[in-house]
Order: sequence, then C-alpha cells, then structure tokens
Amino acid sequence: MRSGFPLLAAQAGLHYLDSAATAQIHRDALDAVLRHETGSRANVMRGTYALADAADRAYESARGAAARFLNVAAEEIVFTSGATAALNLVAHSFGAGLQAGDRVLVSQAEHHSNFVPWLMLRERKGIALDVLPVRPDGQLDLGRLPQLLREETRLVALTQCSNVTGAITDVAAVVDAARRVGARVVLDGAQAVQHGPQDLRALGVDFYAFSGHKCFGPGGVGVLWGRAELLCTLPPFCGGGGMVGEVNLDGFSWAEAPRRFEAGTPPIAQAVGLAAALDWMMSLDWPRLRERETALCARLLDGLREIPGLRVLGSMAAEGRAPIVSFEIAGLHPHDICQVLDAHGLALRGGHHCAQPLLAALGVEACTRASLALYNDESDVAALLDGLRHAAKALR
Ligand code: PMP
Repeated sequence: MRSGFPLLAAQAGLHYLDSAATAQIHRDALDAVLRHETGSRANVMRGTYALADAADRAYESARGAAARFLNVAAEEIVFTSGATAALNLVAHSFGAGLQAGDRVLVSQAEHHSNFVPWLMLRERKGIALDVLPVRPDGQLDLGRLPQLLREETRLVALTQCSNVTGAITDVAAVVDAARRVGARVVLDGAQAVQHGPQDLRALGVDFYAFSGHKCFGPGGVGVLWGRAELLCTLPPFCGGGGMVGEVNLDGFSWAEAPRRFEAGTPPIAQAVGLAAALDWMMSLDWPRLRERETALCARLLDGLREIPGLRVLGSMAAEGRAPIVSFEIAGLHPHDICQVLDAHGLALRGGHHCAQPLLAALGVEACTRASLALYNDESDVAALLDGLRHAAKALR
C-alpha cells in the first residue's frame, strides 16, 4: 500500500497518523493531475478549440467518477473547494428559503464546518437551531430525536462520522425520523469517504459533502451532492462566470444545476485528480480493507489501555467505528505529547480538532488524535504505543 503513496514511499521512517486531517495523495491522482496539466489544460465551458474541448471532457468525466463513487447521477455533483465550501453552499442556498420560525437541527458532535454555517444562518435569518446531544461514548443521542424534531424543522445537518471519536452515525434512523416531520438531511461525509465508496441512494439523505484531500486526492477540491429535484430549485450561492444563463443591466438568469453552483473557474485539474483517486478506491476490496482497519484499531485501543493515565474519548470498541482514536493523558498537554511523538517520526494532531462543542461535551479542551488509513500497518501502531510510553515518562 505504502508504495502507492509517493510521500510515504520517500519517507520510510514516517509514521503518518493524521489522515483524518489530510490523507496522503495516491500516485494515480498525482499522475492524473500532471497528465491533465501537461496535456489538456484549458478553461472549461468557455472555449471552442480542441484543447478546451479536452478540458471540458476531462472535467465532466471527473463529475461522472464522483457520481459513481456515491452511486448518484453526474448532474447531481457540484464541485466545490472542499467539504467546508459544500456545507456553506447548502447553508446559503437551502437556507435562502428559510425564515424566522423555521428550525435546523445539528448535533454537538459536528466539525465547526457543519456547525458555524448554521450559527451564521441563525444570525442571517433568525431561524432556531436545535442541538442533538452526544452520549459519553461519543454516539449521537438519537433517542432525543423525536423530541427535538418538530413540525418547523426544515433541515437536519449531521456528520456521518466524527473526526474526534470515530463514532459512526446511524444515518437510516436519522433519515427515518427526519422524514416524519418532512425535514431534509445534509450529511457531512468528510471523514467517511476515506473508508470506502458510499451508496447515497441507500443512505436516503438529501445532500452530502466531502473533500478530495481526505480521500487520497488533491487539495482544493470537494464535492457537494444534492438530489436533482432539490438542486434545480435552489438559488445560487456565489455569482460569477459560468453560473448564469444570461446577464443584462437589469439582472441575470440562472444556469442549470450543477453549473449554477460553480461560479468562476472551477478546480479543474484537482477534480481530475480526485476522479483518479476515487477510481482507484473503487478498484479496492473494501470488506477486506475494513477488516484490516478494524484489527489495527483494536490493537491500538488495546495498547492505549496499558498506558497509565490515558483516557480514550468515546468508545473503546474497535468495531462499528472509523479508525480515529482521540485521547488525553492526565497532566500532559496534547501539543507537548505531539512534539515528543514528532521527534520519534510520528505525525499526530493535538488540539480541539475544530470540534469545540464536542470536546466540551466530552469534558476536555484539547486531545491527541491518532487516525489510521489504509496505508498504516502494525509498525505504525507499535511505534505510536512506544512513543506514547516515552512521552508519558519524559513529560512527567
Ligand atoms: N467535516 C469533518 C467531519 C471534518 O473532519 C472536516 C475536516 N477536518 C471538515 C468537515 C472540513 O473539511 P475541509 O477542511 O476539507 O473543508
């Protein structure tokens, strides 16, 4: 696996355990970007010459790859700069139809990218924001849904997988409850896509957001998926070239979706690179990879149990979660821990992980996070456990 990732192949001593922040880029994605930039680089939807045509085809074919990865239609794929931009797009375009008295439900487990846009919408529109609490094991307290979902709830905005605890949301239960009150569901898939292709038709949600850099593709590109019947009714978020039908001194008309939501020159080469990463992911044996990820996560959790003063945030079970494990060590600051680990070739992130409401619920201000991806193996976990034992001694 490691040999498919140029950075990891070049840095044999690196134990990269921060894939929840950014996964390493796969060789296929890099090759595709280089091929595009040196063979088909031109702007899209504007030129009539052969090179512009090649760029158009490459970009639309990338849309097709993203659609296959999510089991949806290509015209439902909007390229954005990332998950954050995708979620802000929903908050603006879907939010434009909301008014004071309407309600949006979010959870306390959200990344700031799926929390702050709704706080901003509350400021803009005077909507009410309801917050689904998390249980001590990091799972969303879905038992509270019937009480929190009201007739006025228009949208439920939840993460598919926590970037702190690795907890996976029972999306079917959420969709079922949301449908009862006629609410739409937007799912933040940023942490889920790295662990395999998604079947959005089966999940039953209405919008889905993810970033390319978290699923072995380039940075600067992401995807918003929205149901065709919704996208075609929503107003644009950003104005500019490409998203209009006609413009005159009095106003403008909207282009069809998805172009309506892609103002300006889109991230063309990045989308092409992302498509290559997604194609590569779709060629893998995911049941086997997930088994491997779970076994590795179990080893990590077992090892963490042995470290004095260490507390894992959320569940200690390796099954039914993503291999993202956050912890605190009594008396030690995560930044100090990460610094000691770094000296041992271990790349981990310490801090609030852009999830301050969740950390508050879990009773900490900051924590250290180890996130495993398909290129990690037993040697990474063993090195982390050694490094932590060393850090616990050195810092006390
Ligand atoms: N949601 C979740 C759950 C995340 O983990 C992240 C990235 N840390 C984001 C959204 C935002 O992704 P990006 O910064 O790529 O827009």
